[in-house]
Amino acid sequence: MKLPGFVLACLDALEEAGYPAYVVGGCVRDACLGLQPHDYDICTAALPEQTETVFAGFPLVLAGKKHGTVGVVTEMGVVEITTFRTEGAYRDNRHPDWVKFVSSVEGDLARRDYTVNAMAYSPKRGFADPFGGRVDLENRVLRAVGDPETRFREDSLRILRGIRFAVKYGLEVDPATEAAMENQAQLMDNLARERVLDELCKLLPLVTADALCRFAPILAAVIPELKPMIGFDQHSPHHAYDLFTHTALVTAGVPGDLTLRWAALLHDTGKIPTFTRDETGRGHFYGHAQKSAEIADVVLRRLKAPTALREQAVLLIGQHMTKLTPDKKLLRRRVSRLGWETIESLLILQESDMGSKGTGVPEEMEQFGQLRAILEEIRAEDACLTVKDLAVNGNDLLSLGYQGKAVGEMLNALLEQVLDEALPNERDALLEYAKNRG
Ligand code: ATP
Ligand code: MG
Repeated sequence: MKLPGFVLACLDALEEAGYPAYVVGGCVRDACLGLQPHDYDICTAALPEQTETVFAGFPLVLAGKKHGTVGVVTEMGVVEITTFRTEGAYRDNRHPDWVKFVSSVEGDLARRDYTVNAMAYSPKRGFADPFGGRVDLENRVLRAVGDPETRFREDSLRILRGIRFAVKYGLEVDPATEAAMENQAQLMDNLARERVLDELCKLLPLVTADALCRFAPILAAVIPELKPMIGFDQHSPHHAYDLFTHTALVTAGVPGDLTLRWAALLHDTGKIPTFTRDETGRGHFYGHAQKSAEIADVVLRRLKAPTALREQAVLLIGQHMTKLTPDKKLLRRRVSRLGWETIESLLILQESDMGSKGTGVPEEMEQFGQLRAILEEIRAEDACLTVKDLAVNGNDLLSLGYQGKAVGEMLNALLEQVLDEALPNERDALLEYAKNRG
C-alpha cells in the first residue's frame, strides 16, 4: 500500500519514538479497492500526551483528546492520530459506557463496525487484518466485526452505515449481518436525529433502486411513512409496480442531487392517506401531491433537515403533478412563479416519475424534450420574468401619481401584461398603460 509522504512522516515520527503506528479504517479499505483515499487516519499505541510530545513542533487540534484523538496540522491537512482503544457496552445504544486505551492494534480494530473498515497497515509492520477484511473485500462481502446483533445494539447507526458501504462499494451483505440489521433496525429510533439525517444524506445520492427495495424495511424504521408503501398495490392501469418499487425507481432515476433525491423519495407518501377505489375497483389518489408535501415537511422537520433542503423538496413534491404545457406563454408564467431552478428540477422529477411506472414509455415522455426546448428559447430571449425585469420601476409609477400599495399592484399588473405578450417590455408602452389605468 502506497502512502503519501506526510502520512509516512507521521508514522515514522511515532515509530522512532517507540510507538507502533498504523494507518487505519477507510483509507486502508479504499486503497485495497484501488481507490484514492480521501483522508488518512492513524492509530497508535502512543497515549494522547505522548502523541502531543512527538508532534510538539506542529500546530495541534486537541478537541478530541479526551477520546484519544490528536489532530496534527500538516501542510496537506489535518491527520488524526488516535490512541488504540477498546469500548465498553453501549447501554444507551449511542455512546460506549467507557473507552479504554489499549496497547494492541487488534484490540482497537475489534471495536470497529465492519471487517472491511477494521484493517490497519504500516509499512514497517504490514497489514493488521484480524477479521479477514481483505478476503471479504475480494469476495465483495460486507460483514460486521464480531456478533452482528450485539454490534448493532451497541450503535444502531452502523446499520445505515452498512447500507451505505454496501451500495458505495457494491458489496453483498453477509446473511447474518443483514438479518441483524433487520432485527435491530427499530433501535435507530433512539439515535440522535442529526446522525440519522447525516447518514441518509450520504446514502441517498449513491443509492440504487435495487438497494432501496432490498433495504426498504430498514429505511422504513427511520422513515415510518415509507412502511405502508412497501408492496402497496396501486390498483391502477398506469402502474405496473407497487408504490415503493415505483418510488425507488423514481429516486434512483433523478441525478444524485440531494434535494431531488429527497423529493423523489417522499413524492408519493401522500398516496397512502388519499387512496380511494371507484366502483370499477380502480385506485385514485386525489390531492396526493399536496398531501405528500405535507408529509415530507413533517418527515424533514423531524429529521432536522436544513430549512433550504426541506422547503425546496416540499415545493417540488407539492408541484410534482402540475401539468406543464409546451406553450411558451404558459411556461414563461411558470418560470416567473417558480424560478428557473425549481422548473428544471420539476421537469427532472416529473420525467423520472413518468418513466418509472413500468407500463412502457408513455407518449407524454416526448413532451419533456419539447418543454426543454421552449425553456431554452425563453432563456435565450432573456425574457422579463419578474417585476425587477420590467422596463419601469416603482419610482416611475410614483411620479405618475401612484401611491402606497397601488405601486406594487400596478407593477404586478404590468408584469402580467408582459408575460401575456399583451404589452412589450418597453418603457413607453408600460408608462402609457399605467397612465391610462391610474
Ligand atoms: P468514509 O469514506 O465515509 O469516511 P470511513 O470508513 O473512513 O468511511 P468514518 O466515519 O470516517 O468512515 O470512520 C472511520 C473509521 O472509524 C471507520 O472505518 C470504522 O473503522 C470506524 N467507525 C466509524 N464509525 C463507527 C461506528 N459507528 N461504529 C464502529 N466503528 C466506526
Ligand atoms: Mg473517513
